[in-house]
Amino acid sequence: MSRTPFVGGNWKMNTGPESGPALAREVAAGAAEHPGCEVAVFPPFPFLLAVGRALAGSAVKLGAQDCYFEPDGAFTGEVSLGMLKDCGVSVVLTGHSERRHVLGETDALINAKTRAVLAAGLECVLCIGEKLEQREAGQTDAVNERQLRAGLAGVSAEQMARVTIAYEPVWAIGTGKVATTADAQDAHAKCRGVLAAMFGSAVAQATRIQYGGSLKPGNAAELLAQPDIDGGLVGGASLKASDFVPIIAAAAGRV
Ligand code: PEP
Repeated sequence: MSRTPFVGGNWKMNTGPESGPALAREVAAGAAEHPGCEVAVFPPFPFLLAVGRALAGSAVKLGAQDCYFEPDGAFTGEVSLGMLKDCGVSVVLTGHSERRHVLGETDALINAKTRAVLAAGLECVLCIGEKLEQREAGQTDAVNERQLRAGLAGVSAEQMARVTIAYEPVWAIGTGKVATTADAQDAHAKCRGVLAAMFGSAVAQATRIQYGGSLKPGNAAELLAQPDIDGGLVGGASLKASDFVPIIAAAAGRV
């Protein structure tokens, strides 16, 4: 089964009203050279409209880093999926490690958000991954399985066509430490096995699983060539087109 590689740039709480659209224009130009890879950028909420305008006419998708699961009401500070759709967003991250471990999101909240993204007709990138102490305690596969099963509870096999999983070992995010190619491939294959147990092997084979964690131009080609690694979710290296576009190129060129 061939899966179209998918690379996302998670800008986190970075960029500004001018630098965001400028980066988006550079990414759009670079991504156009590598049509074999799907690309999305996830700017901060205040710049979604401006970045969306900068991406107009390009195939790069506009993504949101988070959402709230209720459609409207008294939820101060939150942003609904309807609002994100009005901004042109087509794909939403759920369960990013910083939301789990810095902002305290639970598996139940992540599941509610994931189901809401899919019910709104959007694509979802569900992020999972173990912390360092969990890896050292031999719990990597159990943590990934728990986060997959909890995050995808109530999601149908048909909705899985709009789900991407991002496996991001927490200890590798923003640290410069990268999972070994063998460890990353092994974790991805195990995650695919969990998806097969949950949804059947056809869905598992069709679902893209991105790697995330200090992905850079220098390590992307080897990681992204692994059979179960279908692209990447990129933080720091997505803030410069000169770093991000070579990662897109590596994903597009995977064998
Ligand atoms: C991320 O934010 O999802 C991420 C993988 O960050 P970085 O590439 O900086 O490790």
